[in-house]
Amino acid sequence: MRVFSIPMRTRFRGLTRREGVLVRGPAGWGEFSPFPEYGPAECARWLAAAREAAHDGWPAPVRDTVPVNVTIPAVGPERAYAMTKESACRTAKVKVAERGQSDADDLARVEAVRDAIGPDGQVRVDVNGGWDVDHAARMIRTLDRWELEYVEQPCATLEELALVRRRVDVPIAADESIRRAEDPLKVRAAGAADVAVLKVQPLGGVAAALRVAEACGLPVVVSSAVETSVGLAAGVALAAALPELPFACGLGTLSLLKGDVAGDPLAPVAGEIAVRRPAVDEEALRRWEVPGDARWRGRVAGAQQHLGGPEVIGAAP
Ligand SMILES: [Mg+2]
Repeated sequence: MRVFSIPMRTRFRGLTRREGVLVRGPAGWGEFSPFPEYGPAECARWLAAAREAAHDGWPAPVRDTVPVNVTIPAVGPERAYAMTKESACRTAKVKVAERGQSDADDLARVEAVRDAIGPDGQVRVDVNGGWDVDHAARMIRTLDRWELEYVEQPCATLEELALVRRRVDVPIAADESIRRAEDPLKVRAAGAADVAVLKVQPLGGVAAALRVAEACGLPVVVSSAVETSVGLAAGVALAAALPELPFACGLGTLSLLKGDVAGDPLAPVAGEIAVRRPAVDEEALRRWEVPGDARWRGRVAGAQQHLGGPEVIGAAP
């Protein structure tokens, strides 16, 4: 059990460091990095993903590269323009509805990003559930002046998403509404979204996520849980194995971390990530490694108890 703790370049979910456990098995390295507030039942799926990576391996890829989006945080328009240009990505995801900011801030940011990416690029916005139904309908219509690819999680609940979806022409994507395997089916049944954002660890692995994608029948965007290259490789494996991949994925997140554990990190080049599994570099890992403390041993043990089956991560060292 190798515990890592890597500082984040910007706060994410209130976190200033990304922590987790790496495990090595016959199939390679796996990552177990559930967020701090998750209990043992939820963590069991994250552990199942690590077990699959380390012991079982992943389904065969059907493509060699995965296009990814650049994510533009709630910055001013000039910074948003520069970040979009620098990324060389053909798709930009713009964060909107940031607390303390106005609709005018969001409009200016989206306009700047559309300007930077040009008419052939794609612009999507991510609301993280921050609007009510009326606000969402109004803002989406206004923002669509810059031709949105889709709007991610405009409201918090499935019911609200379904209402918004009936009031606007822009496709709706569900992200926070999908946290476990049964959720995409609920999203579809509620008529709440046109696109499903899937993440490997919360769904219990690449094969499980593939089954979810097939069962829900919606086009899928694979997103990361802001992992190291080890965890990201599982997301890339999912994106590479999906029969259809109509949208750029949210897997270009390595730059959110101040470091990585791979010698050749899984970072995008010209808006694409090569489908591969980078090796863990011992020196890089040691730089971010912290002693396996009681907290992580407890999280692994609790998740293991829920998951059952062969032990994924031994207690040593
Ligand atoms: Mg999102």
